[in-house]
Amino acid sequence: MNTLDVKDIKVLLSEEKIQNRIQEIADKLNALYQNEEVYAICVLKGAVFFAIDLLKHLKMPLKMEFIRLSSYGTGFSTSGKVNAVDISLPDLNGKNVLIIEDIIDTGLTAKFLMDFMHCNFRTKSTIFCSLLDKKVSRKTEIEPDYYGFEVDDKFVVGYGLDYEGYYRNLRFIGYVPTK
Ligand code: 5GP
Repeated sequence: MNTLDVKDIKVLLSEEKIQNRIQEIADKLNALYQNEEVYAICVLKGAVFFAIDLLKHLKMPLKMEFIRLSSYGTGFSTSGKVNAVDISLPDLNGKNVLIIEDIIDTGLTAKFLMDFMHCNFRTKSTIFCSLLDKKVSRKTEIEPDYYGFEVDDKFVVGYGLDYEGYYRNLRFIGYVPTK
C-alpha cells in the first residue's frame, strides 16, 4: 500500500484536546512526585512528541532517557514480538521511573518493559504512562497507571504515531476510515 493522503485522515483527537489532556496528566504527576527526582523514559519513536510536551509541564528534578523497541513490522498490524533495538539505561536502582509510551495496544510492549524493569532494577517506583489506550486489543493483563485517551480498535496516526514512518508530524491524532 502506498502512503496515505493526509486529507483522507479523519481527526480523532484535536491538537487542543491532546494538549489539554497532557496538562491534566502533568498536574497529576506533579502531585504524585512532589519534588522527588524522576527518570523519565521515552519509548522511541512514537512517544517522543507526547514525552516532550508532557515533560515541559513537570516541575520536579528530572532526567530524560530514551529506549527503542519495535513490535510493528510493516503496515497496520503488530508482529506480536517485541524487539529491544536499544535499551541501554543508567542505573535505575532506587529511582522513580516514569515510562512514557504513545499507545498500549496488545500490551506486549508494556509487559516487556515492566518485566525488563523488574528483572534489572529495584526501582523506588515504576509508573507507566501512555497517551492512548486501545483496551479492546489487549492480550496481556497490563494496565497503564495513567493514560490520556481510550481509543477504539482503529489504526491511528499523528502526534508521533506513524504509518510506515509517515505522519508522526501531524499535530492531531487521526485514523483512516475503512468505508
Ligand atoms: P503493543 O505492544 O501494545 O501491541 O503495541 C505497542 C506499539 O505498537 C506502540 O508503541 C506503537 O508503536 C504500535 N501501535 C499500536 N497500535 C498502533 C496504532 O493504532 N497506530 C500506530 N501508528 N502504532 C500503533
